[in-house]
Amino acid sequence: MERGKTKDETLSCFGLTMKITLISPRIAVQKGDFFGSGVPYWPIELAILSAFLRDRGDEISVIDLFGSSPTTLEEVDDHYLQGKPFESFTGTPSVAKAEMFILFALSYMAHREILSIARTLKGLRPDITLCVLENSYAVTAYSIPQVAEDFFQSGVYALLCGEVYWNWDEILEFLKNKNIAKIPENVLTPVLPKDYKIKRKINKNPTYPIPEWDLFNLKNYWSIPYSHGPKTKQYFPILTSRGCPYSCDFCVVPETNLRQWRGRAPEEVVKEMIILRDRFGVRHFQIEDLNPTVNGARWEEICRLLIEQKAGIFFYFVSGTKAETIQIDQIPLYAEAGCRYISISPESGSPNVVKAMGKSFDHTHGLRLIEACHKYGIYTQACFLVGHPSESPEDHRLSCEYLRAMVCSGLDEVAVFVIAPFAGSLLYKHNSIKMTPSTMLTSFSPKGREGWNELSRRRKELVRIFFTERLKRGAGIWIQGIRALLGIPRTKMENLPRRIMFIYSLVLKYYIQRLLTLK
Ligand code: SF4
Repeated sequence: MERGKTKDETLSCFGLTMKITLISPRIAVQKGDFFGSGVPYWPIELAILSAFLRDRGDEISVIDLFGSSPTTLEEVDDHYLQGKPFESFTGTPSVAKAEMFILFALSYMAHREILSIARTLKGLRPDITLCVLENSYAVTAYSIPQVAEDFFQSGVYALLCGEVYWNWDEILEFLKNKNIAKIPENVLTPVLPKDYKIKRKINKNPTYPIPEWDLFNLKNYWSIPYSHGPKTKQYFPILTSRGCPYSCDFCVVPETNLRQWRGRAPEEVVKEMIILRDRFGVRHFQIEDLNPTVNGARWEEICRLLIEQKAGIFFYFVSGTKAETIQIDQIPLYAEAGCRYISISPESGSPNVVKAMGKSFDHTHGLRLIEACHKYGIYTQACFLVGHPSESPEDHRLSCEYLRAMVCSGLDEVAVFVIAPFAGSLLYKHNSIKMTPSTMLTSFSPKGREGWNELSRRRKELVRIFFTERLKRGAGIWIQGIRALLGIPRTKMENLPRRIMFIYSLVLKYYIQRLLTLK
């Protein structure tokens, strides 16, 4: 090693390490619809990638636009962008000194924002490699090759599709030398033919480093009065598995994960929770997996380890899981280990619609699961979708009936979304869902969807049924209301009053500031 230089500096001299800046965009909030408690916004992949690259000796900077200021709002056409504008960072060393930019395609809602950041970067640092990384762990994300031209026209050089950990050396060598004879198969660049099919890399027994959360502004994430799951004072999102074996036609995951589910080893999951607990004092973990319990025995082992190690940890299945993969007789074990919340997704009460979606759901098991969770103090959420092309009025009636039965079994909350064409889903590819031409934003429940009024009516009807049935069942719903106002939610729904007040206060602040600036 050269005298006076650290190991990292010496590696850097030989071009073996790089200064890489990772960028996560602002969050898009549809105007007049602030019920987006179903939107995960922690950029988990960037925290894991930061740890991975740091372990290799690279110098990592993170620009997290949402996390750096979730109290800043800007109006853009039919939506607001929440977070600090990228322009606030253009003069920082993270931009001026970077040798590579990786822009995270966090959510489909933020697509236009991501393109705008790409154009700004291309103008500022035209010679620096600019990549976009796909978000393969969220249903709110999208398949980036489907909109490749948008990215290439905005100055992006390479699309990194799916996880990049399994052939990073190959990707890096290509990005440094731009030798088109050696383009990795999970990377898309403008030089490839338009019909080129990328191949995402899947590792069936993956291990990941502990996310580098100290590069993110945790206090800001914790200070906002809501989260993807029931909001606790401090919490972390965690991925205990990746992918999903199912093939729902409204979902992007079958394309971004090739219908392959990969579970992390129970020991590794528990180790990550305990390390983060000891490092940050956090005891609440929101499980952000697409389908955490596909292998029921794996979660039973995680529960046993948490109990054995007296971890004092609470966990919440906030992104939904396949109800049938949880054995009813294991619910006491989940509760003892610290499980406090399970979200499941019947999507519809009609077996025909569920089948047409390409999904399966055992409606009887769903009711038994809710009953058991209710008995053992685990709060439950059911997600419904309205507006599948196959859905008839009779199918909608079956959804209403099934929701009533769920409430009778002890259901604590419902979430109802209007299906939208997310890039990468089968419904998107088949152009089965039309948006009005003026629509800027595709989100969960996009107002620009054709037939919105009828779909919105169906959505409201399901929500109304939930509340009416809950009111018939006694004081539980009132207690939920009180918890919501006090800011001690046990369900996502109880986050909502404070979330709505928070977003409206930001909107008000934004308009007042704009008015003052005009003067
Ligand atoms: S179960 Fe369906 S909606 Fe859920 S992640 Fe899998 S494919 Fe997507």
